Amino acid sequence: MPFLSETLARVKPSPTVAVTQLAAELKAQGRDVIGLGAGEPDFDTPDNIKAAAIAAIEAGKTKYTAPDGIIELKQAICDKFKRENGLGYVPSQVSVSTGGKQVLFNALLATLNPGDEVIIPAPYWVSYPDMVRLGQGEPVIVEGERQLGYKITPAALEAAITPKTKWFIFNSPSNPTGAGYNRDELKALTDVLMRHPHVWVMTDDMYEHLAYDGFDFVTPAQIEPGLYDRTLTVNGVSKAYAMTGWRIGYAAGPEHLIAAMRKLQSQSTTNPSTISQWAAVEALNGPQDFLAERCDAFLRRRDLVVAGLNACPGIDCATPEGAFYVYPSIADCIGKTSAGGALIENDEAFAKALLEEEGVAVVFGAAFGLSPNFRVSYATSDAALTEACARIKRFCEGLR
Ligand code: GLU
Repeated sequence: MPFLSETLARVKPSPTVAVTQLAAELKAQGRDVIGLGAGEPDFDTPDNIKAAAIAAIEAGKTKYTAPDGIIELKQAICDKFKRENGLGYVPSQVSVSTGGKQVLFNALLATLNPGDEVIIPAPYWVSYPDMVRLGQGEPVIVEGERQLGYKITPAALEAAITPKTKWFIFNSPSNPTGAGYNRDELKALTDVLMRHPHVWVMTDDMYEHLAYDGFDFVTPAQIEPGLYDRTLTVNGVSKAYAMTGWRIGYAAGPEHLIAAMRKLQSQSTTNPSTISQWAAVEALNGPQDFLAERCDAFLRRRDLVVAGLNACPGIDCATPEGAFYVYPSIADCIGKTSAGGALIENDEAFAKALLEEEGVAVVFGAAFGLSPNFRVSYATSDAALTEACARIKRFCEGLR
């Protein structure tokens, strides 16, 4: 009998976390590596948020809290949903966890039975399918259209729905493509969902505040109030407030689902860090003006990276609406051999050779379920991005 569980054998370690770790290890060994793997802002957490955490420690707010969050944070989350998304929730409809990742994990584990299907548009964030598998469910992958910036069509969504479909996972702006669904595009998807009342919506809105060129962020329950009773709206402070390490994610949805998620969390991690919760209260209730400044910096970097990558032979990079990722196609690089002698048989080989030969860490497309591509996180300095693009160009020019 194998010691490890059969469930665990169905999943792999997170590739985004693995690439980030590898880049850090190589740097620690003295290698000159530019890390474009990690999906985290390089900006610091704003000072008012840090001060709120310090004040919480000094006030002795360092004990357990209710498993799914303090009432002050739940109220701040309700206020945020009302103010920014026009969605009305009360604190008993809110769950706070250790990052958006735990929110999603809780929701899937709390609801899936063996064989339940979960529709996931590809390319997808690496963890969605494996979380579904950990919950004994079956991921059903719907591929995005390249000419639509890898967004899916309503017809493709409708074709994937079966009587076993439990959830549709939606993510806009997207990790890994940065693509955002506008009002009309999202309404067309919610129209499909209105025809299938047994399908629930899990919307991962983590990149809401990272949107460019006037992109108008919308979330499913806002655009289609008829979905409110079967939507879990997930968000967090990690990306917008540069708080990845604080580990605070949250969601709002129907009370019976939130209660089930609370039960699960009470038997696993109990509450997310008390200090981080107080910091998140300040993030949501405090000044928001720095968001626009940071978006300006991300916009500049996006344009720098898109231009830099499109100057590389064999790379085709679309200009996305949001997040801090681009997801270029490398179809014209496949089958070639690098200057260092590596056969580029797929996007994993491309990313490996790029790291070994030029010291640039990116995440290969197969990890996100759509190839041949790679993901660049441009949440790093302009200087590092300029140097990385020069190295990627040299690497592509060396392909024969
Ligand atoms: N969401 C980020 C990424 O895609 C952080 C790493 C992770 O949890 O996957 O890089």
